[in-house]
Parts: sequence; structure tokens; C-alpha cells
Amino acid sequence: MPPAPSVNSRAIYLRLLAYVRPYRKAFIFAMLGMALTATTEPMFPAVMKLLLDSGFGARNGSDLHLIPLALIGIFAVRGFLTYFTSYTMAWVSNHVVLDLRRQLFDRLLSLPTRYYDDQSTGKLIAKVVYDVNNVTSAATNVLTALVRDSLTILCLLAYLLYLNWQLTLIALAVGPVIIIVVKLFGKRLRAASRRGLSAMGLISHILEETIGAHKVVKIFGGQRYEAQRFEDVGKEFRRAAMRESMAASATVPLTQIATATALAIVIYVAMMQSQSASDQTTVGAFVSFITAMLLLLSPVKRLTEVNAPLQRGLAAAESVFDLLDQPPEEDHGVLLLPRARGNIRFDRVSFSYADAPRSALHEVMLEVQAGQTVALVGPSGGGKTTLIALLPRFYRPDSGSILIDGHDIGTLTLESLRANIALVSQDVVLFNDTVTANIAYGSSTGAGESAIIAAARAAHAWEFICRMPQGLQTVVGENGVKLSGGQRQRLAIARAFLKNAPILILDEATSALDSESERQIQSALETLIQGRTTLVIAHRLSTVEHADCIVVLDQGRIAETGRHSELLARNGIYSHLYRLQFEPTALDGPPAVI
Ligand code: ADP
Ligand code: MG
Repeated sequence: MPPAPSVNSRAIYLRLLAYVRPYRKAFIFAMLGMALTATTEPMFPAVMKLLLDSGFGARNGSDLHLIPLALIGIFAVRGFLTYFTSYTMAWVSNHVVLDLRRQLFDRLLSLPTRYYDDQSTGKLIAKVVYDVNNVTSAATNVLTALVRDSLTILCLLAYLLYLNWQLTLIALAVGPVIIIVVKLFGKRLRAASRRGLSAMGLISHILEETIGAHKVVKIFGGQRYEAQRFEDVGKEFRRAAMRESMAASATVPLTQIATATALAIVIYVAMMQSQSASDQTTVGAFVSFITAMLLLLSPVKRLTEVNAPLQRGLAAAESVFDLLDQPPEEDHGVLLLPRARGNIRFDRVSFSYADAPRSALHEVMLEVQAGQTVALVGPSGGGKTTLIALLPRFYRPDSGSILIDGHDIGTLTLESLRANIALVSQDVVLFNDTVTANIAYGSSTGAGESAIIAAARAAHAWEFICRMPQGLQTVVGENGVKLSGGQRQRLAIARAFLKNAPILILDEATSALDSESERQIQSALETLIQGRTTLVIAHRLSTVEHADCIVVLDQGRIAETGRHSELLARNGIYSHLYRLQFEPTALDGPPAVI
């Protein structure tokens, strides 16, 4: 996978910094703490100078016994400062993580269906789980290092200049070399980090699929295939990680060699200077100078090492911001639709999926009166699911309009539009929560228990709920694994009963249910569609026969409309499908074409 184009680092820093703004007081406090820590750095070499110049060997200084105490004092103050700045930085960065995660999740909730069609779940999960963490480790470690170490370096340099400016300038000549090295490896580091993050996304994608599909993997013997896929991305991740640490490891010794060279030159020049008569450098000053220079080494080292987490953080921030910048679902409508009567009109609606060669729906005209049931039938791929997905605005039509009670659905707020629609689909979605929570899912008012029980009764679910170990409080397992197919479906129907929306969308189940379940579901659905406008993707002929209107969709066009008997008489696609289902030769399976 090619790395994403590099985004301006400065823009990313500034954007990250904006996240710190709400916590600026703590942040400034931490920065000040670091600055103070840095200013204590030259104290140690200064104490050395004092010690040596005041005649350490002569044992006559009365103040000398203060020096060990001063040492303890300096380090106590430093320790105290370090603790508080680290604590404050962690506090700020963890708040930033929380804010970023919250924003990412909000964005996930508002993304259009089109975006989800194109993304893998695992990659999206990886962004929220790993990438955000990488951003923070950049925020904390990097900032700490950058601020404290660069200030330390500045303070030490100031002290060095004060001691001997000529020597310091010589030492400083190494600076540009170090900067060049760091910049050179920075680019490689970021590229490697991007690959690593992308590989991490793939790893969680494969995990997600394999865990979710573990039964299919077992039955169809997909283990080797999955293992191979996992192996491939695992290796890809290893390669990226190695590339990253190679670049990171090379930076450190290179800068150290540069620094040591500077040190060697300084010592050489200092020795030359000391031989000239005019030299006034004391032994104490020289030792202090060298000590301060040596003290420079570790902040310089840390500053160069910071490049790796920094680049990783920037790559992660790119990935996080990429998701945050995705446009959410369009919701420009302003009209609040109160409880709709339920007249629906599709007016020359055309729609095609992104980069699909042909349109999924072509100039569909369809009128449904309030309270009617319209059955959609037709060959697989005909556009039934697509047509139904346009009504709650999961997708926007390319042209034409969809009207509910005369209002173009584009002019309604998404929330009020969707409040009027209930959906029971063949792949029931249940949450790993109690039966109550699943039935009352999304009901903002907090449905009362009596309403939930009434819904469960209407959906023929109450009996089996009562037999469950904790009744309504039983947890159903991930996507309801602890329930049978029929039970899950009835919970989904109960959810629709409770929502009591005027418009109902049914994607009828074909799954082989036992006849008892099927009879109960059938009768629950018959009650559910009473008094509602229902669009049903029909697989059962009983539904079709009772529908007010049957619409045959073929290749995105309405091929036939009418009642059961009319369509049979017409001898077109519908009668063909009907005969397929009922001819004795077709008994060995459900009709493949509906
Ligand atoms: P039906 O429900 O009648 O079987 P669909 O509405 O699911 O048909 O599909 C209509 C056409 O749109 C098919 O050609 C299908 O391949 C295509 N299609 C369906 N969903 C998507 C999608 N998310 N992205 C791209 N193409 C899709
Ligand atoms: Mg379908």
C-alpha cells in the first residue's frame, strides 16, 4: 500500500496544538516547570567550578561544606519539578486523547453509508484504538523532550558562552550537521510509520473478519488462507517496524559521533589556548566547561531520538485527521416531519453506486398510499435493497426525488425523517445487552417496561423471553448468539413495534426457520403492518399475495406493477418467478432468483 501523500507537518502541529487549547493553563504550567528544570542544569557545572577554583586541595574554604548540601538541594528541586511537569503533561495529553476519541466516534456515527461501504471495519477500529495513542505519545514524550531538552541545551550554551565564547562557537559549528542528519532520517521515519500504521489497520481488519466469520472459516477450511493473509500483513508490519527502527537507530550514533567530534575539537583548542601566555582560563573553568559540554550530550541525544515518536505521531495524526475530515452525512433539511401519514412517492429516482458501471436504479416511479403494503420482488441484483435504502437517506438519489406526505425527504431533518421509519431486516442486528435494551434500542424517551412487554407480546416474543433465565434482563450475547434465528427476528420485530413508526421497511427473512417460528413471525408481521405504510422485499408468496401492490424490479427498472392476479395473468417476469417457486422441479431449494 503506497503511503498517503505527506501533509505539511506544521499544519499538523498547529492542529494538534488546537486540541491543547482547552487545557492551556495546565499546559503552560508544565512548560514553565520544564523551563525551570532546564535552568537548573548549568548549576551542576557551576558548582564544580566553584569547588575547584576555591582551592579544593587547600582545605581552607569555610563555605565548602555547603557544596554537598547545595547538590542535594539542586537535585531535590529538579526531582520535584520533573514529577509535576510529567504529571501535568500526562494529564493534558490524556484529555487530548479523550477529546480526539470522542470526536472520532462522533464522526463515525455521522458518516454516510457510502463511506462505510468503502472502508474496512478493522482499519477504522485501528484508527480510534492505536492511532490516537500514537498521537498522544507524540504529544507527551515529544513535547517534554522538545521543550525541556531544548531549553536545557539553551541554558547550558548560555553558560558555556559565559565561560568561553570562542570555544562555544567552535562547538556550535556541529549544530547544522546534527540538524541535517535529523531531517534526513525524519522523512524515512515518517514513511515507515505510515506503512506500519496501515499494516496495523490491516491486521485488525483480518482479525475482525476471522473472528466474526470463525464458523465459515472452520467449515470451508479457510484456516490456511487466513493464516497466510495474517502472515503477510504481519510481515509487512515487521518490515515497516524494522525500517523505522533502522532509521531511528542510525540517527543516534551519527549525532553522537558529530558531538564527540565537537568535543574533541574543543579540548584540542582549549589545550592550545592554555599554552599561550595571555590565557586566563582557570582549571575550574576548564573542567566546568567540559562538564557542561558533556551535560549537553544527553539532551542532544534525546532531542535526536525524539524524531521517531514524533514522526510516528505525525503519521498517526494524519490518519486520525483524515477520518475527522470526512464529510458527515448531509443534513441540510430544516423541516421537522411530525408523525407522517405515510404517503410515499418515488419520482423518477435514479441512483448508482460510486464507481459502479451501471446505475442500480433508473427513473423509478412509484406511489404508495398511506397504510398500503407494497411488495418488491424481482431477480437478485434488481435493486430492491437499494430502493429501500434511499428512503431513510442512507444514500442520496442522483436525480429525481422521494416525497413523504408531499415533502421531499431532502428537505427534512435526518432525525425527523428517520424517526418515522422502522426497519426489520433479514439480517437482524442485536446488541450484546439485555433483551430490554435491545427492544428499546435508541428509544430516547426511555420506554417503560409495560410498553416493552406489550411490544414483546405483539411480536410473539414474550413467551420465550419469560422462559429465559433472567427474563427481560437476560443478556443476548454478541449479535444475539444465545438466541435462535426465529427468536432474534422476533426481538427485531418487537423493536419495530415499540418504535411504532408510520412507515415500515421489511426485508423479509428467507432463513430456514422452523415452521412454528415462521408461523409466529408471519403473524407478528401481519399485526405490525396494520395501519402502516409498508415496503416489503418479499420472499414469501403469502406476503406478496396480500400486498396492495406488487412491484417487479429488474435491472434497476420497474418492469411490472399490479396485484398478484393481474401480474400472473400478464405472463411476464412475475409469473415466471411464481412458477419457478411452485413447479415441482424447483422443490429442491428456495427460488434462487428472488
Ligand atoms: P437486490 O436487493 O434486488 O438483490 P441490490 O439493490 O442489492 O439488489 O443491488 C442492485 C445493484 O447494485 C447490484 O448490481 C449490486 O451489485 C449493486 N450494489 C448493491 N450494493 C452495492 C454497494 N454497496 N456498492 C456498490 N454496488 C452495490
Ligand atoms: Mg437485496
